[in-house]
This record gives sequence, C-alpha cells and structure tokens, in this order.
Amino acid sequence: LMGYVGFANLPNQVHRKSVRKGFQFTTMVVGESGLGKSTLVNTLFNTTLYPAKEPLPPSAERPKTVAIESIGADIEENGVRLHLTVVDTPGFGDFVNNDDSWKPILDNIESRFDSYLEQENRVNRQKIVDNRVHACLYFIQPTGHSLKQIDVEFMRQLHTKVNLIPIIAKADTMTDEEIAAFKARVLSDIEYHNIHIFQAPTYDNEDEETIAEAEEIASKIPFAVVGSDKLVATPDGREVRGRAYPWGVVEVDNEDHCDFVKLRQMLVRTYMEELREYTNDVLYENWRTEKLLGMGV
Ligand code: GDP
Ligand code: MG
Repeated sequence: LMGYVGFANLPNQVHRKSVRKGFQFTTMVVGESGLGKSTLVNTLFNTTLYPAKEPLPPSAERPKTVAIESIGADIEENGVRLHLTVVDTPGFGDFVNNDDSWKPILDNIESRFDSYLEQENRVNRQKIVDNRVHACLYFIQPTGHSLKQIDVEFMRQLHTKVNLIPIIAKADTMTDEEIAAFKARVLSDIEYHNIHIFQAPTYDNEDEETIAEAEEIASKIPFAVVGSDKLVATPDGREVRGRAYPWGVVEVDNEDHCDFVKLRQMLVRTYMEELREYTNDVLYENWRTEKLLGMGV
C-alpha cells in the first residue's frame, strides 16, 4: 500500500486510551537548503504539506537568519487521528557565517518546553497542548567525506534537547559502496564527539521478532534516503514513487534502493510513541530540572 503512512498502529504503540482525542506529533527538519527536506516530509506523510514553490527572483531580498516555520496537518488513517506539525528551519547553513545557526533552533525547542511547563503549572491541566518537538531529522549532505563543522556543532548543541535522527540526504547521488563508507565515517564522527542520537529502546521481555526488527532499524542509521512525491514508471511497468534516471528508476519504497522504509518505520510506524515518551520522560524532564534548579526552586 503505497499511500499508507502507517501511524494507525499508534494505539498499539501506546496501550492507552488517548485514541479518540488523537495524537500530537511534532517533527523538525534541519539541514542546508536543497537537501530535500520538504520533499522528504511530503514523501513520509504522503501529503503535499509543501506545495511546489516558485523560485525566488534574483533581486528578492534573502533572509539573513534561520527562520522557524511551522506547518500543521490533520491526517486520519483507519480511524486514528494524527495532528502532525512539521517545524522547518529554512536558512540553516546558508550564510557566509553559520557559527550560530543552531541557536535559533535551540531557542525554539526550549520555548516549546517553556510553554509546556507553563501549561503544567496551571490549575486546570485538562487541555495541555503538546507542541514539544518529538524528533529532529538532521539532513547530512551526501559528500562522501565526513561530517562538517556545522553538522557537529548542531548535533553537539542539540542532542540533549531533542531526539536526533541523522539522515544522509539524496542517497541516489551515491553508489552503495560510497554510502556504506560514508555511513561508517558519519557514525565514527558521531561517536568521537560523544553525540547521542535516538536509539530505539529494547526491553528484556521482548520477543525475538521485535528485537530483530529494532536491530534491523538501528543497523541502517544514519538512514540513507531518497525522497520523491512523484510517481514514475519502472521498466517492468509498475508505477512507483521514485526518481527516474537514464539508467533506471530509484524507488523510494524499495528497501534494496534506500532506507526510506526503515526511516518511516522508526519515525511513524514503530517508535512514534517511544519518541514522544523519551521527549517527555528524559529530554523535557532534564530541561525542567535544570531550569528549576537555576531559578533556585
Ligand atoms: P529543501 O530545500 O531541503 O526543502 O529541499 P527540497 O525538498 O525543496 O528539494 C530541493 C531539490 O532537490 C528539488 O529539486 C527536489 O526535487 C530535489 N530532491 C529532493 N529529494 C531528492 C532526493 O532524494 N534525491 C535527489 N536526487 N534529488 C532530490
Ligand atoms: Mg524546503
């Protein structure tokens, strides 16, 4: 089922009764312009959250700071409602001096924590709106070298505040061998800098199948993805979401072609609730404790 997003599994992920209210999930996308962020969001949620945009005329005034833009969509699948928010960060990495590109993004994440704390402190806590960022997809340019300074700096500054999910963008521009070598470099850079990226939790009481699935997903990090919201025809006559080249078609939903399916499994189908829980129980809780200690409470 190509158009099927897969969050309808959420009630199973949750084991709670919040099904009727629906779920709130906020994901952020960060990375330099042109790495395919908007396209991937459309591909992941099978929507056109981002309509095709007109290119800016050369004379247009370009912004000088990172902008934070938030788009919401209500999507329903098999009777399960998801209120999805995508926080986009256009401008990141696009300036002559990108030293502080991470700062407005950190501020935005913390102000969402602030708003949550403020709601928790109200007398009436019935209608808390959770606008906290539950996952941050960080797009790495497919250079084949190693992480850039701006990547390392961003992840170092943000890894204790948000669930980081590193992604190698536009994986169709590299060969399988190049991707494998690049993944290894990226992972060793991440380890060297003591950066914590989101890991799917495993529990002692889980069955072999679940553990195998978690290991399979983990083995693909950083996910090498291809995005496309267009259908293309394959030589054998199928219509698939993909990108057509003279030598063939790269299929988004084909696990032999890229890690899109595994990324979607991590973000939407299997670990959406884990991402929400880790945000609440660990990231938010640590931030809150620090904040209260800082205020001398
Ligand atoms: P953003 O600036 O990061 O939001 O990037 P966009 O999603 O607007 O994409 C920029 C350009 O890259 C567009 O022309 C897309 O069609 C193209 N693009 C998006 N995803 C991919 C991909 O996975 N592979 C390739 N080769 N091109 C892509
Ligand atoms: Mg974009």
